Amino acid sequence: MQPQPLIDPFARPITYLRVSVTDRCDFRCTYCMAEHMQFLPKRDLLSLEELDRLCTAFVGLGVRKLRITGGEPLVRRDIMSFFRAVSRHLGDGLDELTLTTNGSQLARFAGELAEIGVRRVNVSLDTLDPEKFARITRWGRLPQVMAGLEAAKSAGLRVKINAVALKGFNDSELFDLVEWCAAEDHDLTFIEVMPMGDMGEEARLDQYWPLSDLRASLAARYTLVDLAERTGGPARYVRLAETGQKIGFITPLSHNFCESCNRVRVTCTGELFMCLGQEDRADLRAPLRASPDDGLLTEAIRAAIARKPKGHDFDYSRQRVAGQMSRHMSHTGG
Ligand code: SAM
Ligand code: SF4
Repeated sequence: MQPQPLIDPFARPITYLRVSVTDRCDFRCTYCMAEHMQFLPKRDLLSLEELDRLCTAFVGLGVRKLRITGGEPLVRRDIMSFFRAVSRHLGDGLDELTLTTNGSQLARFAGELAEIGVRRVNVSLDTLDPEKFARITRWGRLPQVMAGLEAAKSAGLRVKINAVALKGFNDSELFDLVEWCAAEDHDLTFIEVMPMGDMGEEARLDQYWPLSDLRASLAARYTLVDLAERTGGPARYVRLAETGQKIGFITPLSHNFCESCNRVRVTCTGELFMCLGQEDRADLRAPLRASPDDGLLTEAIRAAIARKPKGHDFDYSRQRVAGQMSRHMSHTGG
């Protein structure tokens, strides 16, 4: 008998799980991390086997899409054994296994990812200028990411570029980014910067570039055709009539997308966040470790989904950062 699928109190089926497999990263993007981060002690992390058990339990409860994120997922030791393990569910409950990465390790892993059934990757890239890239990521180097993107393309992976929209940083590069993605045949999504972690409040308001403004700049040069496509998440899409390419906008702050939310997030310590914009969470590590069968774990997952909130509280509109989250984006993986 199939178990009951996960349905939250607002009748939203939970079919999408994002899993952060590490809080560590080889970059230190200024909007995401402090330069000197205190990372979690290794003993607090779920092992790769435990992460696999967790993902398997969610797939058994009706999750059809898994996105692996971090921190930087591809810097976790032996991560390919985890990808290989969870890929066994593809075609057997799981429709899609994918990841969000900074691209630094893709030159090494793109081939293997494609081979085990990953079809698409999201690669975060905010600028095409090597000097600006080094500035925003602090530790990243653009040629390394470009080599990763080449490898992804040769392996046949579909690439979506995620760019955080930052006023005074990449606003001057808007058309360069769009044209480069068109030439490379990458999809492109812009993300509004979110109030996460402990970055200075002033800096954040300063660099906030509303995507409504970004969209207006695009519309001045291209014909934007709204697409009906919805992913159950905060992204909205248009097609540029002139280039045919798809552009996404993730506007967690200026739009309400919560009514169709289909996702939850697990951190590398086994905390389940039912909403990106709320502090409420459920510990899955204790039930996972308490027993080798999944009874307690399933019970804990169901109890958590039963209190998934209706929506989040982010809001810049009152010229202060309301609903600000104390945790860093690298904690939940975006
Ligand atoms: N390291 C991987 C990467 O950079 O793609 C995966 C984890 S990263 C936390 C996931 C996404 O969150 C990236 O696209 C990154 O640009 C985005 N991100 C990080 N901090 C953010 C913030 N404060 N506001 C909006 N997006 C942010
Ligand atoms: Fe690392 Fe991704 Fe955060 Fe940049 S955005 S510091 S690459 S986790």
